[in-house]
Amino acid sequence: MTEPAQALQEIREDIDHAARIARRKGADVTLIAISKTKSAEEIEPLLEAGHRVFGENRVQEAQAKWPELKARHPGVELHLVGQLQSNKADDAVALFDAIHSLDRSSLVQALAKAFGKAGRTVPCFVQVNIGDEDQKGGCAIADLPALIAEAREAGIPVAGLMCVPPLDVEPSPYFALLAKLAAENGLEGLSMGMSSDFESAVKVGATHVRVGTALFGARG
Ligand SMILES: *Cc1c(COP(=O)(O)O)cnc(C)c1O
Repeated sequence: MTEPAQALQEIREDIDHAARIARRKGADVTLIAISKTKSAEEIEPLLEAGHRVFGENRVQEAQAKWPELKARHPGVELHLVGQLQSNKADDAVALFDAIHSLDRSSLVQALAKAFGKAGRTVPCFVQVNIGDEDQKGGCAIADLPALIAEAREAGIPVAGLMCVPPLDVEPSPYFALLAKLAAENGLEGLSMGMSSDFESAVKVGATHVRVGTALFGARG
């Protein structure tokens, strides 16, 4: 087995184990392989191993890599996990199958327009600035209900909430808070947990974990 394929199997087992502890099913957790900065050659082994769900954080980088990979490996599901500029909404809707970074009113409007033009919608996660950090992207907790209402009104399929907790502190309380906010707003999807903390995220309800480094190795 190749190294990434081995890592994939181990992470899948860790997810299943964390899910069992929480009396959940591992199969209810989607593992998004975050392939940002990785070349097509580095991504290929995971596709060969049968993995189909990937995430990128830049539209342009994804446009350069994924059309060809998708053509070679049918069934790929591509998630956008990075900030999205409104003027890239059309490009994002054409390439991605889910968007995890819906964080502001202007983007709601841009995506609604892009969906209309493309004649398709993709599930969107509202990104929450869960630690109330100045430098971090995401909607403020206080603004969340209004943004969700606006998105629903605009016909955007709101799948759930997404967060990146503050660095270097125990993430579980932030994951639990995101789960509470999702429940309060009638949302089931929880995109939370990265290489260092996906097990904690699964224990408190993550439906989508976003794992890069632990699968592909450190980014150069
Ligand atoms: C890069 C990135 C990840 C993956 O991080 P790792 O620590 O490499 O697993 C997850 N989510 C977002 C939003 C990212 O930008």
